[in-house]
Amino acid sequence: MQFILKIILISCFLLPGCTVSIDPGDEEDSWLVKNTEHFNFYYNEYEVFIMPSWYYLDIDQIAEKQEQGYREILEDLDVDYEGVINFYIYPPEYVEGRPVQSGYADPTFETVYLRYHGRPFGKHEISHIISEQTLGRASIRLLNEGLAETLEYYQPASLEVIQDTFTWTIDTYSQGNESYIQVLLRKGDNMSTRVFYPQAGWFVRFLVGTYGMELFKQLYTVDLSDIESRLVSLYDRTITEIEDEYFAFYRYTPEYNKH
Ligand SMILES: [Zn+2]
Repeated sequence: MQFILKIILISCFLLPGCTVSIDPGDEEDSWLVKNTEHFNFYYNEYEVFIMPSWYYLDIDQIAEKQEQGYREILEDLDVDYEGVINFYIYPPEYVEGRPVQSGYADPTFETVYLRYHGRPFGKHEISHIISEQTLGRASIRLLNEGLAETLEYYQPASLEVIQDTFTWTIDTYSQGNESYIQVLLRKGDNMSTRVFYPQAGWFVRFLVGTYGMELFKQLYTVDLSDIESRLVSLYDRTITEIEDEYFAFYRYTPEYNKH
């Protein structure tokens, strides 16, 4: 019975994310520890069944991938950082058939907390640590999560899915003359991870890909009240012009421009 239950539970789709749902607890004595050049890994022997087989936590493989991710992030950001990241790996857990997600980062204490779901961990959470330690703290969720998704190389969806997402977001959240990017800036804190992260990633990947990482690094820590003027001073474009270029990039025509 437990076996069947595991099959049902772990067949659910897992989204990457930062939902704060893991209680770090007080289990220091029970951790196995692996130290590498840039990480202290704390873990145990977790296993997950994903059709058609079991996956056992392989700490050497995880450590190698995270060290590689760490180097790639430094290169992509073009920053110097030598901090050691504490990397806590918790057992898989499911509530009502869905994984209790996934993990979060605490950049101040250079620590990430993640659940093991049988898949290799990506770069999203450690990118939060390195970004904040080197560039400063981003107060705007669109820039913070968008950069994490960009450094993760979050796979873009099809053009149709992207355009449908634009339409849904505008229809659901836009009020008055609020444009799409203004919606993401002002209401991003209230949008679910599933809806928001891909859009943040598409937008920041567009900005970085079009105008380069150096300009984006100067934008990264701006306050919401200053972002529209900062876009003009950095990119020589208004938010509306940026948005027009972004939509042209995805060959999309928003409904509110047709009225
Ligand atoms: Zn995140």
